[in-house]
Amino acid sequence: MKEYITSQHRYYTLDYYLKKRFDKKVFKVALNGDFTCPNRDGTISNRGCIFCSPEGSGEFGGRRGDPLDKQFREVKNIISLKWPDAKYIAYFQANTNTYGPIEKLRKLFYEAINLDKDIVCLSVATRPDCLDSEVIDLLSEINKIKPVWVELGLQTINEETAHLINRGYTLDVFCDAVNRLRNAGIEVIVHIINGLPYEEKDDMLNNIKFLNAMDIQGIKIHSLFILKGTDLETLYYEKGFKVLTLEEYVDITVSQIALLRSDIVIHRINGDAPKDQLIEPKWSLKKLVIMNEIDKRMRDASLYQGIYYKK
Ligand code: SF4
Repeated sequence: MKEYITSQHRYYTLDYYLKKRFDKKVFKVALNGDFTCPNRDGTISNRGCIFCSPEGSGEFGGRRGDPLDKQFREVKNIISLKWPDAKYIAYFQANTNTYGPIEKLRKLFYEAINLDKDIVCLSVATRPDCLDSEVIDLLSEINKIKPVWVELGLQTINEETAHLINRGYTLDVFCDAVNRLRNAGIEVIVHIINGLPYEEKDDMLNNIKFLNAMDIQGIKIHSLFILKGTDLETLYYEKGFKVLTLEEYVDITVSQIALLRSDIVIHRINGDAPKDQLIEPKWSLKKLVIMNEIDKRMRDASLYQGIYYKK
């Protein structure tokens, strides 16, 4: 049995990993670096991924245009009241955070790691087609000062679905980016979505089998959100597709965790939908219920992360 299995969770949680690595409670602070996305500005497309809200991804970050220092202090001031010893991860979440001139990236990322002595890591969410060698060299340079994580939104390995959701890059591009990031010593976290239109449970399990064979360090799993004003909303109302029930989501996610390589840290097992924009699934707002159901199901069936992992 694995050391990270507790009476509560039977998988390798981010919380466990952070405490072990940094010996303190660590919080992610979402910073807004005022980025756009090539899948929205016309470079790749002007529609964006079909599930992405018109304001772009990262609804919970700091305010666009605010200085980084202000964005960070606002969060730290609140957290430090309860956890004076906490450490922080500077997290560029909204849109595509390596899509811009290299001078902008250099200035912003260095500013972020130097915002506070308690920042222990830089985390950058981006697309795999926005990681040219200049960007990877920069991230690798910063990685020598503080650990750098890169989060990639893969969503699915199914190329047909990728086309349907207008992801705008192929699986080869993703694999190439992961390999180049790993050659530079940068940790990679991959986002996947359960419940994409017309996908079956097997598609979602195939995502895990595929990722098991890649040199990745973390994963974020969440359910598809149908948000107001998106192309996904139009598809849902005009053509229709099946939305996962809570029970189905729990069943699929538990099966995925049981298949997942045991050294991959699970950063999330559900997402944060903006409540006022969410059409379906409404159960996705009950984050605690989802987590508890997954824990319960794993305990009852004596499952743990990686129990069905095969090389
Ligand atoms: S790559 Fe991210 S920010 Fe860009 S359209 Fe897709 S989900 Fe939205």
